[in-house]
Amino acid sequence: MLSNSDVAQKLLEIRTLMEMAGDSFYKYMAYEKAAASVENAPPLGDLVTAGEHLKLPGIGKSIGAVVEQLVRTGHCEPLDQLHERFPPSLLEVLGVSGIGTKTAAMLFSDYGIASLADLETAIASGTLAGVPRLGSKTIENWRRGILAYRGRQRRTPLPTALTIASEAMDYVRDGPPLERLLFAGSLRRCEVTVGDIDLVCTSPHAADVIAHFTAWQRAEAVLAEGPTKASIWLPGGLQIDLRVLPDHLYGNLLQHFTGSREHNIKLRELAVRSNLRVSENGILNLESGDVITCTEEAGVYAALGMQYIPPELRSGLDEIDLARAGAIPQLVELTDVRGDFHMHTVWSDGDDTLDAMIAAAAARGYEYHAISDHSQGRLRRFGVGADKLLEQRGLAQELGARHGIFTLCASEVDVLPDGSLDLPDDVLARLDVVVASVHTATRQSREEMTARLVRACENPYVTIVGHPTGRRFDASPGYEFDYDAVFAAAARTGTALEIDGQAARLDLPAPLARKAKTFGVTFALDSDAHRTRDLAAMEYAVGQARRAGLTKDDVLNAQPLEYVRAFVARKREAA
Ligand SMILES: [Zn+2]
Ligand SMILES: [Zn+2]
Repeated sequence: MLSNSDVAQKLLEIRTLMEMAGDSFYKYMAYEKAAASVENAPPLGDLVTAGEHLKLPGIGKSIGAVVEQLVRTGHCEPLDQLHERFPPSLLEVLGVSGIGTKTAAMLFSDYGIASLADLETAIASGTLAGVPRLGSKTIENWRRGILAYRGRQRRTPLPTALTIASEAMDYVRDGPPLERLLFAGSLRRCEVTVGDIDLVCTSPHAADVIAHFTAWQRAEAVLAEGPTKASIWLPGGLQIDLRVLPDHLYGNLLQHFTGSREHNIKLRELAVRSNLRVSENGILNLESGDVITCTEEAGVYAALGMQYIPPELRSGLDEIDLARAGAIPQLVELTDVRGDFHMHTVWSDGDDTLDAMIAAAAARGYEYHAISDHSQGRLRRFGVGADKLLEQRGLAQELGARHGIFTLCASEVDVLPDGSLDLPDDVLARLDVVVASVHTATRQSREEMTARLVRACENPYVTIVGHPTGRRFDASPGYEFDYDAVFAAAARTGTALEIDGQAARLDLPAPLARKAKTFGVTFALDSDAHRTRDLAAMEYAVGQARRAGLTKDDVLNAQPLEYVRAFVARKREAA
């Protein structure tokens, strides 16, 4: 069955296509109003069953029938008919800034342009040059608009987006006086990729802040500019939106623009049952007309009768129910992390020396850390074999003592295709921690890969399975295996699963870590740093752990060193 927001989405699609078809303003605006009404209504399924959807504001007999059809079947006649006339792919052309429904309809009827790709081709081939009403400047704007649209589709990895956001915020802070400034949206929720960057700001000088923002030299173009908001895009197409409101609305503003869309829809659906309407401008009591404004985000949740929900949990899953029951977990924080088990030096494929990495780990305030260079399986290119490893051990302990940190001797050993490891047991037994990772033969069948990872978990010397799914944003979706079987094996054998914070990895992905937790798995949050500055990737590992709902108790390296030693020993003794 379609949800309220799905139905609203379809009603808006009808509205757009009707406008494209030249229907009257009043006719298509009725659909827009109906969509807004549906978004704020209690669950439509129940309403339709009781015939009560006809009582919603803006839903008359004919739109009521459309809503009923949509709820029951997912389809409706007006939309089917409009789709016969206009292909659904035409809607993406409307995503290009500067192209409205009239222009899209003209491009389709006169030039057969039915999609964004068609439009790109037409611009590149010069088909549209010389068309009256379309100056060369308009066409150039469209070309840029397509790039921006594609940029939004492409999505930017979290670490890149965070860097850009902090540069933009530094620039905004250098301008007219402001009170508070923060990034919101998917970035604040620690999604692994973001579509665009949302900045929210409070200042009594909104217009000046906006003018300063749009004058940023880094901006390739200004997409929109109004009294309280503006959008720019950077070379490559990443869009940054800035909104400026008075400071007493900071909590409302931040909550609204942090999303997710799904989370906010659920929140609004709940609020409407108490006759409240939630928006960035405050919480409106529909009975009394009073508006509750919140200087802090927690105030919004308190006004709706629930616990504060951390941004990373606002995915629209079960967090609102948990918050109403006062059951939001105390999520793990960066300051809970006492160590990092995964980092490389020039002894294998890292860029920095043993001394530099140990000093940098100590400078982060860690109690302990492990040097885990690649093992001999990678020897031909950069591995550390058994002899060198034992030599490294003595040196690392000495350097650790000098820098005031406990340096554990470890190795990132290769899990070979049959699930065995590429260092012999007598060498593994002399290591403090063993990270076991798959780097080769990654295209094995699902069955082979499952057996391989389960066997790695069953090895008494394996402390942590490194980057368990092998996904890389730049290269690979990861290997195929039976997640449940491996999670069960990890929990049963006392093997930790890694959340690797390396920018290209973020592996385990948060949804899988959330699932692994239900099996009772212990997690290791690691940087997998190959140079000193990348030790900061621990922040991303923590972000993903928080999205997965992990607490300090779920995380091995949030525990004291004695606990880690006991964790390792327990598994070895059990064998
Ligand atoms: Zn690795
Ligand atoms: Zn590694």
